[in-house]
Formats: sequence, C-alpha cells, structure tokens
Amino acid sequence: MVRDPRHDVLFEPITFGPKATRNRFWATSHSTGYPDRPGTDASFLATKAEGGWGVVCTGFCSIHPESDEFPWTSARLWDEGDVINMRHLTEEVHKHNSLASVQLWYNGMHSPRMDSRETARGPSGLPSNVFPERNIYSAWASEDDIKALINMYVLAAYRAEQAGFDVVEVSGSDSTIPLQFLETRYNKRIDKYGGSFENRARFYIELMAAVKRAVGDRLAVTTRFEVDTINGEHRLKHHEEGMRFLELMNKEGLVDLWSLKVGDYEEWGGEDARSSRFAKPNWAAGFVAGARDLLDVPVVSNGRFTSPDDMVAAIKSGQCDIIGAARPSISDPFIPNKISAGRTDEIRECIGCNMCVSRMQQAAVVYCTQNPTTGEEYRRGWHPEETGKTDQPSTILVIGGGPSGMEAALTLGRRGHTVHLLDSADSLGGHWRNVSEYPRCNEYERLISYREIMLAKYPNVTVSLGGKRLTAQDVLEYGAEKIVVATGSHWSTVGVGAETHEALTAVDAATMPNVFTPEQIMAGKPITGEKVVILDGDGHFTGFAMAELLADQGKDVTFVTNTNDVMEYTFFTMEMPNIKRAAFEKNIKFIRNHWAVAYEDNKLQLFYLYRDSADLQEVVPGEWGRRFSHKIVEIECDALVLTTSRVPDDALYWDLINCKDAWKETGIDGVYRIGDCVQPRHAMDAVFDGHRIGMEIESQDPQRPLPYIRERQIWGQGTIPVLGDPRPVVEGDLLV
Ligand code: SF4
Repeated sequence: MVRDPRHDVLFEPITFGPKATRNRFWATSHSTGYPDRPGTDASFLATKAEGGWGVVCTGFCSIHPESDEFPWTSARLWDEGDVINMRHLTEEVHKHNSLASVQLWYNGMHSPRMDSRETARGPSGLPSNVFPERNIYSAWASEDDIKALINMYVLAAYRAEQAGFDVVEVSGSDSTIPLQFLETRYNKRIDKYGGSFENRARFYIELMAAVKRAVGDRLAVTTRFEVDTINGEHRLKHHEEGMRFLELMNKEGLVDLWSLKVGDYEEWGGEDARSSRFAKPNWAAGFVAGARDLLDVPVVSNGRFTSPDDMVAAIKSGQCDIIGAARPSISDPFIPNKISAGRTDEIRECIGCNMCVSRMQQAAVVYCTQNPTTGEEYRRGWHPEETGKTDQPSTILVIGGGPSGMEAALTLGRRGHTVHLLDSADSLGGHWRNVSEYPRCNEYERLISYREIMLAKYPNVTVSLGGKRLTAQDVLEYGAEKIVVATGSHWSTVGVGAETHEALTAVDAATMPNVFTPEQIMAGKPITGEKVVILDGDGHFTGFAMAELLADQGKDVTFVTNTNDVMEYTFFTMEMPNIKRAAFEKNIKFIRNHWAVAYEDNKLQLFYLYRDSADLQEVVPGEWGRRFSHKIVEIECDALVLTTSRVPDDALYWDLINCKDAWKETGIDGVYRIGDCVQPRHAMDAVFDGHRIGMEIESQDPQRPLPYIRERQIWGQGTIPVLGDPRPVVEGDLLV
C-alpha cells in the first residue's frame, strides 16, 4: 500500500534549535510508572521510536529529591545511577532514528516526597491543592533558593546530555514550579519575583535562560506550557496571561519549541487528558489556536489525535507544526509508520477510556485497554505488531467474540494457528457492543472495530456469528485440538454485590417487570414510572451511564452506592469531577455509603453501612465493642436498576471440564478459559488475558501465565549513591 499524498505533510522534517526531527510526530511526555524498571522503560519508549515517532519523550522526570514524587514513580535525573539507566533508554530510542527528549520536572509543593523526606521550595509557603489530604507544603524560597532551584535544572540538563538526550523539555505545565511562579494562585510574593505579570514571569525566563546557556548550543531546549489552566478565576487564562506569556517569552528567544496544552495538575486527567466520554479529539484546539501566530518557533499540540486527516487539519489550520500524542502513542505506537505505509485502517485507535490514567493514579504502572503489549515489551518480550510464528500450529476453537475472545483469536491467527472464532450473537463484541452504545461511550466501539478489521486480514481465522449456543457435546464433536472458552459475564439479576454478597430480598430482574439489568435496558425492556434508583456496586462507568440514559429520558434518578464517593473508580480515570458536573446538570441525586436489602411494594430498603454504633470509649472487657442496629431507610421508586456485580458465564467451561474423559478420543488436548468467564474484570485485563493465551498456548499449562522478567534491585549489587557520597551543590551563585 502507498501513503495518501494528503498525509505527506506529516512526514516533513522540522528543525528546532540545534536539532531536526525526521517528521511531525512527537510522542509527548506521560507518566508510566516504569522508570524504576529501566529495561521496561527503555523498551516501551523505543517501541514508539520504532513505530515512527520522530521525537519520543520520557514521562515527568524529577530533577532533584526535593521533587520526589513517590509513591508515584517518576523518571529521575538526580545522580549518576539515573544517567546510566537513561543512557540505555536513549540508546534504544536512537536505534530507530528518533530524537530522545526528557521532561525536566520540579513540582515542589505538589510532590509528596514520601521517599526522600526533603523540604520543597516554592514561590510561597502554601499547602498543595492537588493533594490537600496529604498535608504537604512548599517553603518560601529566598532569592538564594531561587538560584538553587535554577541550578538544579542546570545540573539535570547536564546529566540529560550525559545520558544522550537530544532535547530537554522544561515542564512549565501541570502546576510545576515555573507555573507556580507565574500564577497568582500560588505566587504571593512582593519582591521582584512576585506581584506584576513581568515579575511573576521572571523565574520562568531566568530558568530557561540558564538551561539554554548550559546546553542550548548542543541540545534543543523546549518547554511544555499550559496556556489555560481552565479551572476558574485566579488561574492562568488563555486570553489573558496565557497568550501574554507566550509573547513575552518569544521576545526573549529562549525556547526552541513550545509544547502547548491546557489544564492544571489538579485535574490533569480530567481536562488535559480528558476521556472520550467528556471530550472529542482536539477538543482544546480553541485554546492553542492563536498561539502559533505569536511564536517564531515550532509548536507541538496534543489532541488525542488518531486520525491522519485530523492531524493534517491541525497543521494546515495553523494550530501547530507537530502532532503531539500521549495516549494515542500508547494505544498504537506504530501510528506514524501505518500512516506512512497507507495502512491507516490498521491503526489501533485510542478509545479514550483513561484506564492508562487510572493505573497511574493508583501509583501503579501504565497498561492500555486497546494495546495489551503496553509495558510488556521487555518483561514478556511482546511487540504490538509482531507476534512471531508458532512452531506447533494447531486448530483452535475460540468460543465467544467479546474483547478477550477477539484478542485471543487475532493473536492465535497472527501466530499461524488455524482459528475458528464462534459467537451466537449476530456481531462481534460481546457485552462491549452494549457498552459502546451507552451514553458518551461511542468511541469504546473502536475496541471491536479494530479487531474486526484485523481478523478479516488473516485467512487462517474463520469468524462465525449468529449460530446456536454450543453445548459441551457440540464442542467435543467440533474437531478442534484446543478450546478457548471466552463466554463473558452478565450483570447479576438479583442484586448480589460486594457489600453483603447476598441477593436482595424479593428481587429478580429476570422475572420482575420493574427491576432491570443494563443488558435489559439496552435491549429495550420498558421502564414505566418516573422514579428510578440505580443501585451501584461496580464503581466504574456502567452505573452512571444508566443513570444518565434514564435522566435523559426524563426520569427522576437517584444513584445509590455503597462507596464513599460516586463511581469511585472514576477518581482514578480522573472523570469524577466531570461526572459530578454532569449529574448536577441532570439533577441526578446521590446516596452514598448505603446498600439495599429488599425491594418490595415500590419501596427500596436501604441500610447505612456504619449504622452499628461503636462503644469506642468504654469497651467492657469480654463484650462486643458495637451496639448493633437494624435501622432501615426506605425510598420510593418505580424501577430499580442493578449494576451491583457481574456473574461469569462459565457453564460451558464447567460442562467441558466435567467430560474431560472424552477429550482424548475427540482429539482435544486442552480446554482453557479467558476473560470475564474466569472472573469479571476491566476490558483492559480481559484483552490482556486473550493476548496472553494467544502468545502462550504452546506452553506446558497455557491456563497459567509464564514467568516474566522482574526488574528490581538484587541484594549485593552496588548502589548509587553510597552512604557518605557528597550532595551535589546547588546553593550559591548561578552555575551558568
Ligand atoms: Fe487510550 Fe484507554 Fe489505552 Fe489509555 S488505556 S491509551 S485511554 S485506549
């Protein structure tokens, strides 16, 4: 296939400072949690370089222990040990002819510092608004402290050069310290670094000047800046100081390239990295559109771009010179190469689910719903585009065409097995077909369509839809050597949830006209009456999708949950603030910390989770320290929707296990189960499960994962630094 000439512009080289990138694709900085695993970190970024991104940037890279992000794992450039690990990373990136960029990061007041225990400096002595519960502050910086802060960046820039980086990107976004000096919200000073706009901009300018003097003739010196922090008054606004700052800095000529974004650290995943449920690709274009005209150097702009046509439009409209991408480059590290080769139908488009964000928010490592090889490039040796070929080809029946079954069939097919994928539904997708029809969730359909397109490319994969549901006898007679059961799960019809693990009294959506599961609602089971309660024990997106769907139909919706907050998992995907805003607009009411026991005569009986009082002051020895309560709260409702928990559809699997004696005579050498029919889970983990069995079906026990490389400090190896090493000196005059 050949490239569409309309996309040629994306492959023009761009010069910035002393460097030139081979094309207009920039894999922008995003957290991964990998940096303490140098092999994982390097392979993850090198895969993006291999996939064609002209510039590949690390995640946020702390420049000093005063900005220790633990329990989050940032990259670091604190000492020689970090230089050694980073050098491996840059060497891997350079093998693919891409530039390696590092984002220099000092977040001071917002850095939890739970490992280093250092004191952070800032423009003012204030508590962090990002982590108000953590009781972390910055200390007022003296003018000597300000010099020390700048010297920290300079030393980090030197280390970046030693590590082989081509680009140093100073983070002036995500409420890092350059922005803290700039925003009145953080800057309460009355000296030459505070007060007027010019004074508040002084730190950022002096910082960029110092980094430029230090390495600017050899490395490109860029900055990432949010032109609008979006979140209300007293913040940076695009049309006021956002644009004014660009003009001011442009006059100084200190920046080789600008990477522009919106949003602050408080809601970085809710505004800057908005999920597809709350923003379409390039939603923030209006905030950065005018910026390009003010600047004499190239601009990078992000917008969760996955379509080459959208990318070209952004460039031609003058929004930017280079397409930045974080999530799209995770979901498909090979987007540039696929566009270049004219294989745009094969782009594994990001679905905007923010599950990657959620992993980071839990201080874990980043994985991806669409791309099961994310983070597995080194430790399992997986590759997003190359699966390798099996040397033991066999005929495999995959039963169930949901996310896990589709991914298993695709991976097995790529590896050269003969695959039959069967589903009794008329279309692929399993329960995800319903999900992608929930309000706001239309981009989730990409999880299905990508796999449909790819499955059709493998003649050794046969997809059969709409047939009868197979029995164990049907499977035995099918003639396959290996069976993969991927039959999914369904929502509990009787309201079993995590709180009591019991069915609700007098409740069954299978038989009652006024009790519903999401599948029934999506299938059109009619809801009569006005007052609806959603009973949610799931905590992710389905419960609120049902609430919004019914509120949009004019129902009076109350959302009951056992959790402390609504849709608690969306705290991790960073969608919660926007969910609350949507609920506020649609008058969806919340009852938290309650669970149900029964639904009779249109009355839902609830109990408060903490209804038992505590004898905390005077526990009588030998007696229970609780005063039990049986208090019930009743709320009236015409209909009850249950998103309490999911139940595996595993009957076929167990039927097959129960006729194990017949396997040998029918030529079956193994039956395995994957995805939700093993245990209901996030689609991200179901897709992973399908991919894993596809990669490991020849192993001794394919049901269980093979070991992977665990990267950690091994006792007896050296450390850097060692006790007694001197601390790098940043105090005193400016180093450059
Ligand atoms: Fe996109 Fe979801 Fe993957 Fe993140 S996890 S990169 S949002 S598909």
